[in-house]
Amino acid sequence: MKLGMKQKIALLFSLLIIAAGSLFAYFASRNLKPYLKIPENSYETTSVVSEEEKILCPFEGITINENLYKTLAVIYDNHNQALPHTGIASACFVLETLAEGGITRIEAFFAHRQPKALGPVRSARIYFVDFALSYDALLAHCGGSPDALQTLRKLPIDLDQIRFPEPYYRVKNRSAPHNLYGRIDDLLSLAKKRGYDLNPTSTLYFSFRSFELSNETTFVAKKIVVPFSSRSYTYTWIYNEKKGIYIRYTTKGVYIDTLTGSPPPVKNLIVIKAPMKVRDQKGRLDMALNGRGAAWYFYRGTAATGFYEKVQGKPFKFFLKNGEEVQFEPGLIWLEIIPADKKPLVSG
Ligand SMILES: [Zn+2]
Repeated sequence: MKLGMKQKIALLFSLLIIAAGSLFAYFASRNLKPYLKIPENSYETTSVVSEEEKILCPFEGITINENLYKTLAVIYDNHNQALPHTGIASACFVLETLAEGGITRIEAFFAHRQPKALGPVRSARIYFVDFALSYDALLAHCGGSPDALQTLRKLPIDLDQIRFPEPYYRVKNRSAPHNLYGRIDDLLSLAKKRGYDLNPTSTLYFSFRSFELSNETTFVAKKIVVPFSSRSYTYTWIYNEKKGIYIRYTTKGVYIDTLTGSPPPVKNLIVIKAPMKVRDQKGRLDMALNGRGAAWYFYRGTAATGFYEKVQGKPFKFFLKNGEEVQFEPGLIWLEIIPADKKPLVSG
């Protein structure tokens, strides 16, 4: 088909409009401004099977001896009366952010260890559903916000205690609602009974360093104060040189797991900022996590800054200021998602 000059111009013009429209829709949907080049290959995935054919933890990058099971995300109650937590030291990845009225919740991901119990379990929010989907996880929780529950009802990942009470139990030595627990075996059995997909993930979700410290710009950071809201929900992290881990302190003191009597072995602490705004009378939050925001990384007693990227339903990606993907220390990563008007206080 031969096109005349006018037709060619019209065609070119239409193509330009479509391209501009697509670009606009892309950036509008991701709620980000195209001010920085997105690093190439940033969404490539790596397998959990290492070059030596060893199986790595999908979140920690360490070789594991146990079998991987379908990732299980659990919503932990973070109220003072819900502390200390149970099972958290066996988690492979932990994230923490706000629910309503300045209170925080934890979402902990389990993929191979089998602690005796998990809890106290509390209710879900819509962003915790997105995080579960992003890391291909089942979601153990007790109720939730209306939008979270409506979404979860349709998803083959829902392990809501209110819908399915069987695998959960309440303990007598704590008061409700801070006394609900579950076990991994029982939760996975429920998922099997429901016909949910139980294949473990084959994706390695973070990049890990297999070499000595690279030439990234780091500064000494032994103490990090992470403010979410009031003093009760401001956490202090202190680097323990001997153990090579970050220890979390709440107003109740050192944060420990009841099963181990020790703090979770946090090798990497990430603090990111996300725009949040109250959207209803109950104080529920909208969190704009699709896009890019500021990030602080803490490992080996040092810190680096950079940015994160998040696309709905996809795992977080973490970059240094220069656009290089962060190479974490193999081991537990703890992610703090704080409001955009807050900032971690870092001291050497
Ligand atoms: Zn692990």
